[in-house]
Amino acid sequence: MITVVGSYNVDFILKVDKFPEEGETVFAKDIYISHGGKGSNQAVSASRLGAKVRLIAAVGNDEYGRRAISFWEDEKIDVGYVKIKNAPTGSAYIIVNENGQNMIVVNRGANIFLLPEDLNSELKGEVMLTQLEIREDTVKKALREFNGLRILNPAPATLNDISILDYVDILTPNEVEFKELSGADDLDYGIEVLLKKVKKAVIITLGEKGALIGMRNKRIRVETMKVNAIDTTGAGDVFNATLAVYLEKGYEIERAVRIANIIAAYSTTKIGALGPRLEEVKSLIEEE
Ligand code: ATP
Repeated sequence: MITVVGSYNVDFILKVDKFPEEGETVFAKDIYISHGGKGSNQAVSASRLGAKVRLIAAVGNDEYGRRAISFWEDEKIDVGYVKIKNAPTGSAYIIVNENGQNMIVVNRGANIFLLPEDLNSELKGEVMLTQLEIREDTVKKALREFNGLRILNPAPATLNDISILDYVDILTPNEVEFKELSGADDLDYGIEVLLKKVKKAVIITLGEKGALIGMRNKRIRVETMKVNAIDTTGAGDVFNATLAVYLEKGYEIERAVRIANIIAAYSTTKIGALGPRLEEVKSLIEEE
């Protein structure tokens, strides 16, 4: 069982020719509405790879919240611990211009009301996966009290309470988050700094360059697959979900990272933030 503690947002993606100036109105060329939020994305991507997944998240008592729950049920996720709060379901407004640049406004809504006291008996299991789009006190309690392997994907790069790292077994920053957390540009030195707190490993995701695993006295560079990437949104979410799935199966960290790289790379060849189903990628990972 993988327990994901994290966020849910409805994503409103608006395509425009150019961003509006202050006070200006522009017309969108298109709108796409999709399920988002790192917690939800990672839970769904893990479930699609065949893992048993329980999601601890909060939605509002509104239509978007109900749709999120029915989406998770369709994706075979255990929604028994999803909380319904007296606040709007989280939402993100993503404006994308012609050059693919974006501007984003997030209303965190119900995500902010997922409280430490909402977590109790469910803090048991093999693997926990969490991120920083929910309250830090909730993340801290989840990690501190969980009795299995704890993975923190420290995204976005906003961690205030650095003591949270004391309760993490595996930390999975991208390069920006890594620099922010370690205070270092140098990967080797930054890993050393973070390993003073994190229990087992720091895994830095490096986009098309794959990932770097840092453990005490050991560094392993893991290349990823060369692909023709068309949408890298959510590549980090797919990477983290896959890592959790294969660590839960008992794979060594290096082998789990090799597979996470392959599936995350594959996901960049498709539109959308969610990962593939196992059947779709089985042949790619058979040798691993
Ligand atoms: P995002 O914010 O877009 O979800 P991220 O910044 O959290 O991503 P990245 O380090 O960019 O994370 O990517 C995560 C993993 O996805 C990488 O370690 C790699 O395995 C895979 N990946 C991302 N971009 C590419 C690419 N262009 N080609 C191959 N693999 C990629």
